[in-house]
Amino acid sequence: MTVRVPAKVNLQLAVGPAREDGYHDLVNVFHAVALFDEVTVTGAATRPTGGPAGLTAEDASGGGLASHLARVPLDSTNLAWRAAELLARETGADTAVHLHVRKAIPVAGGMAGGSADAAAALVACDAFWGTGLQHRELLALAARLGSDVAFPLLGGTAVGTGRGEVLDPAECGARLHWVFALSAGGLSTPEVFAAYDRIRPGAPAPQGDPVLMTALAQGDARAVGAALGNDLQPAALELRPALAETLDAGRAAGALGAFVSGSGPTCAFLARSAEHAHQVAAAVRSAPDCVHTVTCHGDVPGAVVL
Ligand code: ATP
Repeated sequence: MTVRVPAKVNLQLAVGPAREDGYHDLVNVFHAVALFDEVTVTGAATRPTGGPAGLTAEDASGGGLASHLARVPLDSTNLAWRAAELLARETGADTAVHLHVRKAIPVAGGMAGGSADAAAALVACDAFWGTGLQHRELLALAARLGSDVAFPLLGGTAVGTGRGEVLDPAECGARLHWVFALSAGGLSTPEVFAAYDRIRPGAPAPQGDPVLMTALAQGDARAVGAALGNDLQPAALELRPALAETLDAGRAAGALGAFVSGSGPTCAFLARSAEHAHQVAAAVRSAPDCVHTVTCHGDVPGAVVL
C-alpha cells in the first residue's frame, strides 16, 4: 500500500506572539506543490514495540538531496512511525507493519516533509488495516500529531489558523510555477521561532491578507508574487545570513516573489511560467548557500493511494 503526498509552501505565514502553551497563533496560507514523498506500508512478521516493526528510508530526489537522508530518523521519533502508532492505538488495529519512506521533500527545509510523511502513513495504514476512518477522523488524528500534518491530507491551497491545524480550503485560480532553492543544512523550526520571539517581542495577533486571497482566486500570479509574506523570514535570515544572496539572485532573475519557505532554509521563488522557472533556478544555483534547485507547480491534491 503506497501513498504519495505533496510538500507545501506557505504563501503567507503571519505569526502572533508566543502563547502560554509555547505555540504561536498563526495565519498560514498553505499551498501544496508537485514535489512528493511516498510512504509504503507492508506486512511484517513481528511487532516488537507495539508500533511499526521497522522503518526504512530511501532518497527519491534523483541524488540532489542524498545527504538529507542521514537526517531522517529510522525509529519511533519518525513522524510516519508516530502516525502509524497513533492510528493503531486509536483503532485497535494489530497487524504488524513495516514503513518505507521515499524522500524527495527536503529534510528540515520548511516544506513540512516529516508532516507529509505522517499524513501519508495515516492514509496508508488506514487503507492497509482496513480501519476505514472517515476523512474528518483522519484530519483530527493528524492535528494531534502536529500543526502541519492535517494540510497534506487536504492538499490544494488552504488557510490554516490556530496552530495552523484549523483548515479552510481556498481557491487557486491558476497553475503557479515555483522554484525551490535548497541548502546543505537545515534550520530547526523551534530555533527559528525562538529567534522570531527575540526579534519581535509583543507581535500583534496574526491577520490574513485579503489581497493575497483575491489574487489567488483570480489566478493573478503577478499579484500573488507581490502579496507573498513570511513573518519568520527575518529570523531565518538572522540564523543563516547567506540566504539573502539566494533571494537576491532569484529577484535579479525576475522572480515575481522571492521568500524563505516556512521556517527555512529553503527559499521559494514564484516564476512567470515553467520556462521562466528554469531560468530562475539556473540563476539561484550560483548563490553560495544553494546546493540544489527544484522546479514544480502548484497547487496539487493531497495524499493519494497509488
Ligand atoms: P516544518 O516545515 O513542518 O517546520 P520541516 O520541513 O522544516 O518542517 P521536516 O523535514 O519535517 O522539517 O524535519 C524536521 C525534523 O523532523 C528532522 O530534522 C528530523 O529529525 C525529524 N523527522 C521526523 N520524521 C521525519 C520524516 N519522516 N522525514 C523527515 N524528517 C523527519
